[in-house]
Amino acid sequence: MIFKGYSKAKYSNWLYYSPYHTLFDAGEGINTILEEKIVAINNIIISHGHTDHYTGLINILMTKFGHYYSTGEFNDLSIYYPKNDAALMAYIGYIRNFYNLGDGGKEFKINWVEVEPGRTYEFNTKLDTYLETFAIEHTKDVVSIGYNIIERRRKLKPEYCSVPPENIKKLIDEKGRDAVIYIEDKRTLTYCGDSVNAPVEKFINTDILIHEATFLKTDDRFGQLHSTLEEAFDIAVKANTKRLILMHISTRYKYDEIKTEINKMIERYSTAGVIKVDFIVPGKIFEV
Ligand SMILES: [Zn+2]
Repeated sequence: MIFKGYSKAKYSNWLYYSPYHTLFDAGEGINTILEEKIVAINNIIISHGHTDHYTGLINILMTKFGHYYSTGEFNDLSIYYPKNDAALMAYIGYIRNFYNLGDGGKEFKINWVEVEPGRTYEFNTKLDTYLETFAIEHTKDVVSIGYNIIERRRKLKPEYCSVPPENIKKLIDEKGRDAVIYIEDKRTLTYCGDSVNAPVEKFINTDILIHEATFLKTDDRFGQLHSTLEEAFDIAVKANTKRLILMHISTRYKYDEIKTEINKMIERYSTAGVIKVDFIVPGKIFEV
C-alpha cells in the first residue's frame, strides 16, 4: 500500500502516503479504518480548519497513546497546521491542555508546527526531505495552506556520469564530495487541500499532485470555493505533474458518472502528455 484514504466532501477527508509515513488531513473515522497502522504515522499535515479535515486528529493521538501504554513505543510525530486559524487554534489548544501535551509536558514527543505560507519547514522521513508551503484560496472563515514535499537528492555531476558505480567512492576520496556530487531539490508530492485557483507556479514539476475536484461540471458549482474536475486537470497539466490524485468529489455523483467524466478529461488532455490519474470514490476506501 502506497496510498490509503477516504474522502467524502463535507464529512471526512484524509489520505495516508506510506513512503513518507505522512497523513494529509485527518477527517473523522480514520482510526476505525487504519486501526493499529495509525502508530506508523510520523507526520500529519492539516490543510485548513474545516471539520471534515481535522476532527480525526484526537483519535489518532488516542490510538498512538494507547500503543505507547501497551508497548512503550511512541514514534516521533510532527503535526503541521495553518497558523492563526481560529478553529484549529481552539481544537489543538484543547487537545494540548487536556492531555498535558504542552512544552515540557508528557513523555510523547510531538512537534506542533504552526505554518505560514511561503516558508520551508523541517520534515522528517527516511529520505532527506523538507516541506514548502504556499497560500491557498478557499472560504474566508479559514486559513488554507498548500504543501510541497521536497527531496534533496544527491546526484553525480554530469562529467562523472560514465564512471562505473564501483569507482565512485574512489573518485570522491580523490576529488572531494562536493566536486563529484551535487544536490537536486525535487518536488515529489503536492497537497492543495480544498481550493480554487491553486497557484500552479508554486508546484511546477511536482511528481504527484493531490487535488480536489468537488464538481464534475462547472454548472454544478453555485459560487462555492471548490474546484471542478476540468480545473483540476488544467492545473495538473500546467504543473507538468506525472500523477494526479483527485479527492473531495461531491457525494451527489456516482462511480460510473465520475469514471465517465474523468475518462473524457484524460482523452481531452492526452495531447499534453500522459498523466496517471487516480480518484477517491466518495465514501469508499481508497488504496493503491
Ligand atoms: Zn474546506
